[in-house]
This record gives sequence, structure tokens and C-alpha cells, in this order.
Amino acid sequence: MKKQTQIINAGRDSKWTRGVVNPPVERASTVVFDSVKEMKHAIANRGNQTLFYGRRGTSTAFAFQDAMVELEGGEGCALYPSGTAAITNAILAFVKAGDHILMVDTTYEPTRDFCDNVLAKFGVETTYYDPLIGEEIESLIKDNTRLIFLESPGSITMEVQDVPTIAKIAHQHDCIVMLDNTWSAGIYFDPFAHGVDISIQAATKYIVGHSDVMLGTAVATEKYWPQLRENSYLMGQCTSPDDLYLALRGIRTLGVRLKQHQENALKVARWLESRDEVDVVLHPAFESCPGHEFFTRDFTGSNGLFSFVLKDSNTKALNEFLDGMHHFKMGFSWGGFESLILANNNMARLRTATDVRYNTAVIRLHIGLEDPDDLIEDLAQGLERLKASLSQ
Ligand SMILES: *Cc1c(COP(=O)(O)O)cnc(C)c1O
Repeated sequence: MKKQTQIINAGRDSKWTRGVVNPPVERASTVVFDSVKEMKHAIANRGNQTLFYGRRGTSTAFAFQDAMVELEGGEGCALYPSGTAAITNAILAFVKAGDHILMVDTTYEPTRDFCDNVLAKFGVETTYYDPLIGEEIESLIKDNTRLIFLESPGSITMEVQDVPTIAKIAHQHDCIVMLDNTWSAGIYFDPFAHGVDISIQAATKYIVGHSDVMLGTAVATEKYWPQLRENSYLMGQCTSPDDLYLALRGIRTLGVRLKQHQENALKVARWLESRDEVDVVLHPAFESCPGHEFFTRDFTGSNGLFSFVLKDSNTKALNEFLDGMHHFKMGFSWGGFESLILANNNMARLRTATDVRYNTAVIRLHIGLEDPDDLIEDLAQGLERLKASLSQ
């Protein structure tokens, strides 16, 4: 079945929808049983999408879990109240004191902070590695290395990783391969075909797609699913059926939204590349993006999120560039229908294994579903403000 058709049908099995088009919102803490026999059945099947207790989910959660497995592959999907909770809980499910993990240097900032502040406290050591390390990853694997964590493209600087090569070496050393797959939305990169064991997403981003829900997912292969599922339960992780309903609704338009984000972003990125003020455009589909060859080999499309670096800027000029924007709003997160801009002028703080390649601020754009011509005009006026400020 083609991806776009899967997107329309995912999770809509009639056992969840009971005849209506969308899986309904089923709210519950307590589930009541008519007999001891029924209760025993629920206990025996509690990990298996059977009504047991609210924390294990209701039909809305089961439908969304099915949808994620249909879209990404794998055996089962654990749900979390945010993308960050998905990442931290997936890691915690598989490490113990004395273990070592390898974390990509370009990881999402809170993932780094979790490793440095929480894992360290429990005696789990983290080594950061160059996102472009490829087969050299082998030299960093120790006897106690339990898992290798990837995020591709990397946060803010967009380096695309050679996932299958790293996964192959990881498996030779019995390491679990976890990927933060948020950028691809599970649509433009097939994690399990490239050797990933657990694929994590901030569903907060493109899955939900409307900037109004926090949600995380972790889809695991058959080998790791039971441990991930039970650990998630032990940690008390659960999600609201109202939020899951919105995520299921978001999935239906995921294909058309991504296509439009992609088209708009490529237009804006090409325009930026043509501008004298711009040093480099960090868009995985562009040759100028580190790891572009892996994007070409492994991905089937791009989205609205990329970065660029100015040739020349200073704090005052950059602030004037940002403050005058009409369509680009300043804010964290991305993946909604609206355009966003974020300037990071202290990348060095977020990289410990690699040198920061860029010596001015890295500006990240999320290109929304506005007409890209309006977005280009906004940026053009911004570059005029920047130039005027720099020449003062
Ligand atoms: C936003 C984001 C997260 C965290 O998701 P939240 O739902 O905001 O906690 C994790 N990884 C990546 C790549 C993200 O962009």
C-alpha cells in the first residue's frame, strides 16, 4: 500500500471506530468488569490493547498506537506525554548503573541535558560522537556500551547521519539503536528498513501538526517492544485521549501537509541560497548540508524545517532582523501550520565532540503553509534591516 493511502487508513480498524469514521475519544480511569472471569482475562491481556485500567490506555490510544505502527513499522508503540518523555523513558528502559551510551553530538538540547544531569546521576556514562562519524563509531564502543542514539538530521545544524552503517556496527556489538525520527515524521525515512530498533518521535511536531498538543511516541521492534512497553507502564507514562484524538486527526492530513511544507521550504531555501548575505543554507536536500549524500540515499522527501547561516551579523543587527518579522514568529517547537524563526548564537554550548562549523548565528526556520512569496518578502525586508544595521 502506498504511504498516502496508509495515512488515510492507519488505526481505523472497525474494532476501534465501531462504525464511525474517526476512532472516538474514550475517557477512562477505572474500567469495570462484570465477572471475575472477565477481570482475569483483562489482567492476562493488559499489555495487549485490552481495556484494563486507564493508564494502560483506551480504544483511542490503541487506535493511535496501531496507526503509528502502520506508518513507521515495528511491533508496538509506547505513548508519552511529550517527545522529551518518549526519549528519556526509552533510554531509561534499557540502561542500568555502570552502562555507557553513545549520543550524537547534534542531539536535541533537552536530550543532552537529560544525559548530563539524569543519566550521569544514576551512573550511566554518555559519550557524544560526531554525527558524520559513520563506521568510525566502532572505535567508541566499549564493553559496557548499551545503546547508540541517533538524531538525523541533527538539531539546528541539520547534519544527516549514515544510519544503516552505524546500526550495522551497533548490532555487531549488541548495542540497541535508537533514533529520534521526528524530522521525517516517520513518513520520509523508514527507520526499521535502516536498522533502527526503536524509533522515537515528538508527535508534538508534524503528527499533531497544529501546535496545540504535546505528545511523544516510541515504536519498537518485536525484540524490544515488551521491555519498552512494561517500562513505560512502570514509569506511569500515559496520555490523554483528547490529545490522541487530535493526533489521529493530524495524521489524516500529514501527507498533504508535508508535501506543501516541502515545496514551500524548498522555494524559500533556494531564494536564501541566492542571496549575498547568506553564507550557507543547511537544508538536507541541498549539497551544502553535511551528510546530504545520506539524505539522497535514505530519505524520500523533506519538510519545512531547515537552517541558514549569515555571512556577517552582530547581536544588534540580528535582533533588528528578527524583531521586524511579520509572518515568521519567534518561538520554540515546529511542525505546525505556521512559520517560525529561531536564532541560535551560542551553538558551542550545545556541541562537545565536534567543532561548531559556523561562526555567526545559526538561524532555524520552520516554513509553514503560508504562501512562500509572502515569507520571502518578510525575509527580504529582514535582510535589508540587517544590512542597514551592519553599515551604521
Ligand atoms: C521538539 C523535539 C523533541 C521534544 O518534543 P516535545 O514534545 O517538545 O517534548 C524531541 N526531538 C526533536 C528532534 C524535537 O524537535
